[in-house]
Amino acid sequence: MKLESKLSEVGMNLKSSLIRELLKYASVPGSISFGGGVPDPNTFPRHELAEIAKEVIEKEYAYTLQYNTTEGDDELAKQMIKLLERVYGITGLDRSNLLFTTGSQQALDLLARVLLDRDSICFVEFPVYLGAASAFRMTFTKFETIPLLDDGMDVDYLERKLKELDQAGKLKHVKFIYTVPNFHNPAGVTMSLEKRKRLIEIAERYDIPILEDDPYGLLRFEGEHLPSLYKLAGPDRVILLNTFSKILTPGLRIGVIVGHADIVRKATLAKQAADLCSPSLNQRMAARFLERYDLLEYLKPGIELYRKKKDTMIKALEENFSDIKGAKWVNPQGGLFVWFTLPEGYDTMEMFDIAKEKKIYYIPGQAFTIDDSKSSSMRLSFCLPPEEKIIEGVKRLKEVVVEYGKKKGLI
Ligand SMILES: *Cc1c(COP(=O)(O)O)cnc(C)c1O
Repeated sequence: MKLESKLSEVGMNLKSSLIRELLKYASVPGSISFGGGVPDPNTFPRHELAEIAKEVIEKEYAYTLQYNTTEGDDELAKQMIKLLERVYGITGLDRSNLLFTTGSQQALDLLARVLLDRDSICFVEFPVYLGAASAFRMTFTKFETIPLLDDGMDVDYLERKLKELDQAGKLKHVKFIYTVPNFHNPAGVTMSLEKRKRLIEIAERYDIPILEDDPYGLLRFEGEHLPSLYKLAGPDRVILLNTFSKILTPGLRIGVIVGHADIVRKATLAKQAADLCSPSLNQRMAARFLERYDLLEYLKPGIELYRKKKDTMIKALEENFSDIKGAKWVNPQGGLFVWFTLPEGYDTMEMFDIAKEKKIYYIPGQAFTIDDSKSSSMRLSFCLPPEEKIIEGVKRLKEVVVEYGKKKGLI
């Protein structure tokens, strides 16, 4: 019996992600990787969490070592409601507006399950956050992609597309607009306040929910904090996803859905079927951490570390690539990524073979497309390598680009 023939349509459709494949090479000795999109482990509060873990296991064992409710820890909910008020200015939340998930990834999966059908249409940004695309894809939904500009998604394009769909009688299939408004992964851009307001206005006119994914909002290096879409439009329009992955540690796997009680309830039922509950221990640890430490204070050195690394990468790009006409990069105001675009004719996937030889790794833009199309862009993450490696890595990248460019007759 061949198992292959027994696979479901979803099962057959599953493919290993490009990122996973590419990052296998990054462990070769002497490599410099701008590939991994994970936080710097030196920013994790390991001593604080170790102390809290011992304490909550010994003293609160009846809770931390037990099954939890599907909704998650009430103590964490209290802390989260306080944090959302303090950081986002979001008020009026109660327990029924929050569902703790196993990272934001589970939130994306659960919301896809309760919102998307095979004939649904969802709007995502281009380039798209890969985790969201793979979660949504499991439902066989159709995608519409909205190009990202320097100040966030092209809302005029969105409006045109919605109008077209409306005229074709297909508006009812559109289920949501998914966006990462702050320090986009992978594009690095932030949606301006004006665009936030226009997006909401369009979403209201066509009655489309917005899925706001904001893992990086607190990792701002410069510029002013901008109000979240949820804060601007409220729970009748926006579902907000948050996570501790980029601000505390991804290892705890804690995300949260913040939204209207009705949608939170549906997602809770889907979560019950998926995994009953998220780990009690992890949630209580996060709750006690937030109770004891000022998260915003604790984040300061980490943000400073990322800002320095980002500046180093931008400076290195300026020094090395100013002579490549048409090469451009997004200088992010926060987050973990620089989006680097080469002139037309460069295919960063094909170029990866040369990068491998020179032991410098990045994620080709092709990984962030819906239709696997070629791309002259790449995602560079500055969060893991130390500054001297960032400088050396950008130098190697220049060699790669020059070698590829010559081979293709582009320079
Ligand atoms: C990292 C990231 C997440 C977080 O995923 P978790 O499952 O919470 O670790 C969500 N959305 C985006 C855009 C991300 O970059």
